[in-house]
Amino acid sequence: MSRSKTILDISDSHPDWLFARCSKPVEYLIDRSASPDSKGRFDTWTLCTGLANNYKIEILLQVSDWGFVNLPNAYIKTIPAKAIENILPSPHLSLSQYALNDKVYHHLCFALANTIVFDKSNKLAIIQYCFDQCKNIVTKLFTDRNYRAVDTMQEISVIWSQVAVHNFLNYHYHLENDTLLYSNPKYRSHYYATLYVDKDITGFHTLKLTSTLLPFIGCIINLGDTYKPHCLPNQFIADESLNGISFRIFSNWLKAVSPSAYNQLEKSILSYMVSVVKANKKPIEYLTGCLIIDTETLAFRIDLSVFQTFIDSDKSKRFNSKNKRRLLDESRLFLLESANYTPHHIFERSIKNLEQPSLIDKNVLVIGGGAIGGYILLSLARLGAGAGGSKLTIIDNDNLSIENLGRHVLGQNYIGKNKATALKEEVNNQLPNMTVAAYPHSILNRMDIMQGMDLIIDATADSYASQCINEAYHNLDKITAPIISAWIRNNGECVQSLFHEKEVASACRSCVSKNGYHMRKEYDALFEDRSTITALQACRDYTPYAVSSSMSTASLVTDMVLDWLKGEVSPRYRTRYSEKWHGKKLQSADFLPHEDCHVCARP
Ligand SMILES: [Zn+2]
Ligand SMILES: [Zn+2]
Repeated sequence: MSRSKTILDISDSHPDWLFARCSKPVEYLIDRSASPDSKGRFDTWTLCTGLANNYKIEILLQVSDWGFVNLPNAYIKTIPAKAIENILPSPHLSLSQYALNDKVYHHLCFALANTIVFDKSNKLAIIQYCFDQCKNIVTKLFTDRNYRAVDTMQEISVIWSQVAVHNFLNYHYHLENDTLLYSNPKYRSHYYATLYVDKDITGFHTLKLTSTLLPFIGCIINLGDTYKPHCLPNQFIADESLNGISFRIFSNWLKAVSPSAYNQLEKSILSYMVSVVKANKKPIEYLTGCLIIDTETLAFRIDLSVFQTFIDSDKSKRFNSKNKRRLLDESRLFLLESANYTPHHIFERSIKNLEQPSLIDKNVLVIGGGAIGGYILLSLARLGAGAGGSKLTIIDNDNLSIENLGRHVLGQNYIGKNKATALKEEVNNQLPNMTVAAYPHSILNRMDIMQGMDLIIDATADSYASQCINEAYHNLDKITAPIISAWIRNNGECVQSLFHEKEVASACRSCVSKNGYHMRKEYDALFEDRSTITALQACRDYTPYAVSSSMSTASLVTDMVLDWLKGEVSPRYRTRYSEKWHGKKLQSADFLPHEDCHVCARP
């Protein structure tokens, strides 16, 4: 169904829906620099839902993608505007306001999990679905407090950061009217905190909360799974919250969510105050704290200026339990946006959300940190290898040289450095809390490191080294992990990977080709006898292939690792051809061992 046909159908079946081709997108009100110059790209409907809790609700759908890969954006407007302000902060509704044609709206998220199943060819049905979904959510937000509470706890970290940013921006607009505040890193650290955790993926025992401006003295409170769903109170964003939320309002909310979490928080703050008074020292400006629900981090800071003033002026006064509480209640509190850098959060959660298995508990060895090994190492790290309790190991005795740059994952700042050590550094630069071991040795002298691994990758792409690795692999009983070898054929006509393990009778690296010999015919992916182009350069020869071949090999190996994690490792011998190969193709399959293999053939 075409766009115009859909629009005709809608206006026929829904005469009450107002349709307009809009010359500009809905505008984010605070972003005054935005120039709405994308002419005619947006189809906009204003749809009236009628009444929800006696308020007249207007829904605005804005379609910018008629393929519906991106769903329409939805906005709502209530009359009176006060009605919507009363239920904020709310799940699914933005705190920020948007404008179109002099009307002010709030963004509404309606793509709730497990609710979107539709036929993408039926555009009318999709729009109808979006509308129904919006109507349903808006009505429930206004009429069902329990629904709002449950969804609040599900979206708590999103709502939390919205409040943090909203209050911060309002406060500073009020002070200095600076439109660049949001993007200014100096200001950003005022409402932003980063949470790090060392290694421990389950218990959160060794938490550190760091921020350049906010020294962390405070506590981490894990709410566990005993908390009760609760809405964030409207006072969190009320006008008086411009200079922080009163601690009493915050504590009332926290007590309702989790009394034990509140007790823990109060105890930590009061004991800090007592320690300051006892030691007769100057209190710090802010205490920072963090609540954890599942792996969501909800950070906040408490302004201690009330306490400071008390210490400065009333030294003679006794600091008793009564005024301790009063000082605390009078303190102001700011919500902070936070980022959770725990491996559990990053790897388990984000990767699980993609429905991929992860390497988080597997010890993985990559042999060779060259053009292929470098890309493989970084890819496996992204699957969780080296995060949490596992270790990612890389071995290579070579140094990175200028000639490597054209097809190596590492860049100029590593030139002259050992490839294994440099790759370890690069993994640690890119991902938090990784355990990477680097051996600047030749594998030929260190076959022992294959022991105790869960997976071994031979990325040497060197026939002689691969031969020796394969022999050692079969000779050393203590090596139990499967091994994947990967290489590039000729000038990148195809890339190949081979999965081999001790218990299963399938082709090993030496079955495919013995060192010094051609590839055995039945395993040869390039049937046509085409000679490799070898480049000669200052008494060194090398086989030219492009960086795309390195990346292709790494992605072939990554897919194989994912299949292994899923328990579906076949086909064990895989060939991925480049589009420029027009010869006969070898099918990827499980290949049997070669009868003449000197390593694995059984008599
Ligand atoms: Zn939502
Ligand atoms: Zn063999």
